[in-house]
Amino acid sequence: MKKGSESILEIPRIGKAAKTDFSNLGVSTLSDMISLMPRDYEDRRSERRLRSLSVDNTTIYCRIRIIRKDFIPSKRGGRILKIEARDDDGSPLELYCFNREFLDKSLHIGDEYYISASVSKTKGVYRAGAFEIKTHPEELGFGRILPVYPLSGNLSQKTVRGAVDYALNALSPIEDELPLPFYERLGLLHQKDAYLRLHHPRVIEDVERARMTLAFTELFYLELDNVRERRYTGKRPSVITGLERKLIASLPFSLTEDQKRALDDIRMDLDSDVPMNRLLEGDVGSGKTLVAWLSALHEIAKGAQVAFMAPTELLAKQHAENAASLLEPLGVRICYLTGAISQKGRTLLLKALKDGNVDLAIGTHSLFTDDVVFKNLRYVIIDEQHRFGVEQRSLLTKKAKEPNVLNMTATPIPRSLALTLFSNLDLSVIKTKPNGRLPITTYLVSEKKRNDMFKAIEVEFRRGHQAYFVYPRIEEDEEGSIKAVERMYEELKAIYPGYKSMMVHSHLKDDEKIDILNRFRAGEYTYLVATSVIEVGIDIPNATCMVIEHADRFGLAALHQLRGRVGRSTLPSYCFLVYSDGISADAKERLRVMKQTNDGFLIAEKDLEIRGPGEISGLRQSGFLKLKFASLVKDTDLIALAKEEAEKIAREDKGLIKAENAILRKHSKGNIF
Ligand code: ADP
Ligand code: MG
Repeated sequence: MKKGSESILEIPRIGKAAKTDFSNLGVSTLSDMISLMPRDYEDRRSERRLRSLSVDNTTIYCRIRIIRKDFIPSKRGGRILKIEARDDDGSPLELYCFNREFLDKSLHIGDEYYISASVSKTKGVYRAGAFEIKTHPEELGFGRILPVYPLSGNLSQKTVRGAVDYALNALSPIEDELPLPFYERLGLLHQKDAYLRLHHPRVIEDVERARMTLAFTELFYLELDNVRERRYTGKRPSVITGLERKLIASLPFSLTEDQKRALDDIRMDLDSDVPMNRLLEGDVGSGKTLVAWLSALHEIAKGAQVAFMAPTELLAKQHAENAASLLEPLGVRICYLTGAISQKGRTLLLKALKDGNVDLAIGTHSLFTDDVVFKNLRYVIIDEQHRFGVEQRSLLTKKAKEPNVLNMTATPIPRSLALTLFSNLDLSVIKTKPNGRLPITTYLVSEKKRNDMFKAIEVEFRRGHQAYFVYPRIEEDEEGSIKAVERMYEELKAIYPGYKSMMVHSHLKDDEKIDILNRFRAGEYTYLVATSVIEVGIDIPNATCMVIEHADRFGLAALHQLRGRVGRSTLPSYCFLVYSDGISADAKERLRVMKQTNDGFLIAEKDLEIRGPGEISGLRQSGFLKLKFASLVKDTDLIALAKEEAEKIAREDKGLIKAENAILRKHSKGNIF
């Protein structure tokens, strides 16, 4: 019997070219082939004759009788076979057999045939140029519901249908992938029926039942892998250390309730016997970094070392400076490990780390290169975790024995989704922004109204506030976008002659960027003109205006992250989204959402609706994006069910040792503890 992992090349009539086309559809093996979801179905159970055609539905399947055949001259000087026919109602139809003169031999006047055709009406007459015609109705799938597949390249429905049927046959009997009791209890179809019904439903209702079964199965295994990876522990409330108290007392503000709650979660994890693996999710500017520092103090107070990893030098530097001003006064010994440091300096820092003379190390992934040795690393904090690959993150574990890990992300993934996506992690969410933050006022500015915008921003300049002007980076055309930034820089100089400004773009070195941002922070420049390198995490409270040119070219998540660079103090702040005429309906919808709300979670949900989950950063590496049958948007109930069932199994038989769970062990990828 076949395993399913065989290449589709073994399917008759599938050659190299078709293989490439199929791979664009995500199909390279026989089992991929049977998992190819039809995008639609054509119900050919009853005839559809000419008189039932409508504007939206122009396909017929019916019996016809041939009345007349002619060869007519074609425009190119050749000839075309034209056939006149009538369906059973007597409605006339003209068939044009382009390049199919051979049909003349097989089709006879007065005989009946079965046809499926896409028909158009010109000058009161129904005509078809693309059609299939056969002697027997079953040859055209009459009496059945036919699958309509997504196509790519030169693939035709016929080829794909044939290939799917071949694979279904070759792989049968398809075995169940879940223990037997599941099927009855949850009302699922058996796997073999599910695949069969998906491709060859007897009634339309079959399709949804088949899909549900397959969707449940794939979700269940994702969840099972997630929950088996997760470690449960009994937790006790912890005490706040003296160091933490000192930092809190030194702040000019008090912690938000969400910050306090997140800290309680983290302290409990840190004090338990099981290593922490937690995701701290909070919108831009919600105060995650402070939570990170306070929790770091919790470990430092116990004499442990902490590492803080940021995705870029720029952010690492900013965090290091921030940490220095907050934590050094408390006696915390900080080291900033940058790629730019001299070898001699680096050697000294590495020695200090190894000897335990550093409490908190801040850097990029350079923190985890081979030569870095910690004396007593217990706690690792990863800022913007989704920007690191799984591999980079796993490097951490080599520096310490089972360290506590706090993953931070500013990607506001709806909670229900986050819980399932990252169900191997514990989750803390900071939802409310610090007190006194005003919502950012967002204006949609048509290109013609840019001058009004410039004037409004000048008012802010006169108040001593600062601004960012962002120009989208065009992926394919780096040079082009830098030129655009340069043009804008010159244009703005002419508009704001009295104010100093600077450009930031990807051609600058990291330390040049850092230098510019520091000068901007110090107030040396009134505004910055930038490609979207203005990173997530840049925190300059006095900047109150964000202008995004060609805002229609950005996705919602990106717009939200960019807007989050302002509104980082108690000053009122503004975001201007400049759009051009004739933008797409999707783009309009995005801009409307941005104007309506500042709530990152709501924006993430809208993003999910408009673009689907594939585009939400942070979801990218999760297996959930490769879902074949389930939809993250529509199947929330099914996701919850899968999670519940997976948790039940994990509670009862985590190692999947019981005989009835052998099948789960076979299909689960998770590690066995
Ligand atoms: P995030 O990392 O979540 O984007 P930050 O930690 O950069 O947010 O915080 C943004 C700003 O808010 C920082 O200047 C920080 O000092 C300030 N901040 C943090 N917590 C509070 C709070 N409870 N009240 C007022 N301001 C706060
Ligand atoms: Mg941050």
